[in-house]
Amino acid sequence: MRIVFFSTQVYDRESFLALPRLQNAEFIFQQPKLTLDTAVLATGAEVVCAFINDDLSAPVLERLAANGTKLIALRSAGYNHIDLEAAQRLNLAVVRVPAYSPHAIAEHTVALILALNRHLTRAYNRTREGDFSLRGLTGFDLVHKTVGIIGTGQIGAAFARIMAGFGCRILAYDPYPNPEVIALGASYLELDTLLAQSHIVSLHCPLSPATHHLINAGSLSRMQPGSMLINTSRGALVDTPAVIEALKSGHLGYLGLDVYEEEADLFFEDLSDFPLQDDVLARLLTFPNVIITAHQAFLTREALNAIASTTLDNISAWAAGHPQNLVRLETGS
Ligand code: NAD
Repeated sequence: MRIVFFSTQVYDRESFLALPRLQNAEFIFQQPKLTLDTAVLATGAEVVCAFINDDLSAPVLERLAANGTKLIALRSAGYNHIDLEAAQRLNLAVVRVPAYSPHAIAEHTVALILALNRHLTRAYNRTREGDFSLRGLTGFDLVHKTVGIIGTGQIGAAFARIMAGFGCRILAYDPYPNPEVIALGASYLELDTLLAQSHIVSLHCPLSPATHHLINAGSLSRMQPGSMLINTSRGALVDTPAVIEALKSGHLGYLGLDVYEEEADLFFEDLSDFPLQDDVLARLLTFPNVIITAHQAFLTREALNAIASTTLDNISAWAAGHPQNLVRLETGS
């Protein structure tokens, strides 16, 4: 069985090769992203292993199926980037890694909050220049602040536990309230009420037609002046030009992003030798109260190991005829 891995970095190869080899499996690690042009690299591969910014639209899936692919093994929890209708029509099975380390993403979310609140990037740059002044570095205590969590599944719940540990009041919005989050003392509210009451709003729901641009000019206007918005979930949950307007007016106090709507052509690459072509991202990067990381919340040793081992288990279970972690069109999971 030939398995072609797209969008691989050194750390992906290391985590897969550290595990016991699948019997009769040939691993081919490709650095390029999967696109209509690179799909040819998977010719003859029964299994294509893809990541979040790979193109899994109908034309690409059609090309893969025509070249002999039978299984798409996603190395991610999110599956908003695959055309499930086309996969079903082409008899392509799709599996994913439903949970690898919710802690990795939750902890990175907290890192963004602390870095923004305590102006760590500014302080770091200042002390390296010999500037030991504190002007402009005033933060706020997290204890007793209100944190609004949108989406309280595995990651949202892990984040809620950490913020409860800081002594924050937790508000939540999710169509399916999580008893574990309620046990932390959280109140489930309507979205607008959560936005109006929170000092920090953090997004942990999946991207779907219902959540596309969940944060837009209207929802931003309902947030408290000076509040903080964190998105470590999916870029298109946020209408970026609307966020830029809210930052320019000063209404939005802080923004922490690990994901960006147009990240597919940018993130995971070293583009530092080239002029940045994305004017929206370029504008975002000018604000002192914005921190952007390039979709690295998942990047811990524990998460990489769990992604690799669940992916290999998914592939062997499928090869043995009893697939697990299937993503189905009718249920969406
Ligand atoms: P999960 O399925 O455990 O939880 C998602 C929660 O969102 C569920 O409780 C669901 O009921 C809720 N939800 C669905 N629609 C909603 C809506 N309209 N409004 C509010 N809540 C809604 O998923 P998870 O493992 O916690 O992951 C959450 C998201 O985090 C993923 O979908 C993915 O997009 C993102 N993620 C990002 C990274 C990263 O590296 N930055 C890594 C993994 C996952």
